[in-house]
Amino acid sequence: MSARRRRRAPPEEYVPGTLLDWRGDGLPHWDYDRPLPCRYCGGDTHLRDSKKSPAHKVCAEAALAQQAAEAQAAYHQEGTR
Ligand SMILES: [Zn+2]
Repeated sequence: MSARRRRRAPPEEYVPGTLLDWRGDGLPHWDYDRPLPCRYCGGDTHLRDSKKSPAHKVCAEAALAQQAAEAQAAYHQEGTR
């Protein structure tokens, strides 16, 4: 008997707040001047994303996770043709 490898690994559980590290990449992600509306949810935030747009870290991470999921889905569709 041989151990069969599973074709698909189960999706890794996304833990909010663990995707991005905004402390160690050299960019200033905290704007001390004034809070601006988050580009994703519209709530005020002092945080800025890597493009210097106002964004909560959790909102940016959720958007990244969504983009990754869509890219993966598109990739799988390409592969089945
Ligand atoms: Zn937000």
